[in-house]
Amino acid sequence: MAILDRAIVRVLPAVPRTVVRRISDRYIAGTELQDACRVVKRLNEAGKMATIDVLGEEITRPDEARAIACEYEDVFRTIERQRLDSNVSVKLTGLGLKLGYEICRENLEIVVRRAAASGNFVRIDMEDSSCTDDTLRLYRELREAGHDNVGIVLQAYLRRTLDDIVALAPLRPNVRLCKGIYVEPEEIAYQGFEEVRENYVRALRGLVAAGCYVGMATHDDALIAAGRQLVSGPRRDRNSYEFQMLLGVREQLGNGLVRAGHRLRIYVPYGRHWYAYSMRRLQENPKIAGYIAGDTLGRLIPGRNGRS
Ligand SMILES: Cc1cc2nc3c(=O)[nH]c(=O)nc-3n(C[C@H](O)[C@H](O)[C@H](O)COP(=O)(O)OP(=O)(O)OC[C@H]3O[C@@H](n4cnc5c(N)ncnc54)[C@H](O)[C@@H]3O)c2cc1C
Repeated sequence: MAILDRAIVRVLPAVPRTVVRRISDRYIAGTELQDACRVVKRLNEAGKMATIDVLGEEITRPDEARAIACEYEDVFRTIERQRLDSNVSVKLTGLGLKLGYEICRENLEIVVRRAAASGNFVRIDMEDSSCTDDTLRLYRELREAGHDNVGIVLQAYLRRTLDDIVALAPLRPNVRLCKGIYVEPEEIAYQGFEEVRENYVRALRGLVAAGCYVGMATHDDALIAAGRQLVSGPRRDRNSYEFQMLLGVREQLGNGLVRAGHRLRIYVPYGRHWYAYSMRRLQENPKIAGYIAGDTLGRLIPGRNGRS
């Protein structure tokens, strides 16, 4: 399968943009903020919360990073005006992390302060392992400076994650737990499917035991079942956790969680850089190309894809 996934990624640049657009339509809300808001409104009406992500491309100048921070200003204003149930997610490379720690810190603070002004919340996405230390450091600095409306992401495939949970526990962090999407070397990341799953469950137990608010970001049936079991304990209430999924992925599964009374948040990316963003993501993780190809085929050939 890995060979097939890589082959799909190799031919992608030759696929016309209009075709890529049609495929990625399900995963990306559109190019404009109003597209994202339309999607969030529909999700809210279906009982789902959202997190809006402004897609940035490779940032090469500080003013580009500042422009992304300022775009979040519009996002919060619109969320407020339209009374949407949505927070935001940010990528620190989009806010200038690779240009300088202080540049990024300033931009992140702009977003976090603006969020606080409207009682909203900022989730810092976790990127590849070259960003992990700086991301955790920035998160810690913001929390220690009194910003409580900010959360972090931990990746179950990283061998360090259980230690990170122990180190962060005194802050009672609000954590999104995901498997991790980047291709990382064996020395720092579990490679096997089952190993990652097992570490996800260990991490989830650690977070619950530490009294953290957890966002369980997964479409994996086994992990969702494990999560449901963990949060069904007598001391967990419905507001101490949520499930999270990507826009356009396994919608029926998400609907089932909502029907069962769980809170579900959908990740809603939008932006003009959708093409470069999609290509980069696919190149970073060819497995995604396999999912999308499988899913697209499943739609074309009824019965081929039994998953919902
Ligand atoms: C809300 C949210 C936020 C995330 N934030 C981050 C982050 O900050 N950093 C990070 O490294 N990773 C992030 N991820 C990605 C995550 O790490 C995984 O790579 C991704 O969710 C797939 O893992 P899975 O747990 O769904 O399990 P998998 O076993 O990979 O997937 C289970 C099933 O879900 C379906 N599926 C999963 N992903 C897709 C897809 N993209 N397209 C189509 N079908 C799919 C497939 O049917 C698959 O069999 C996030 C994921 C979610 C849901």
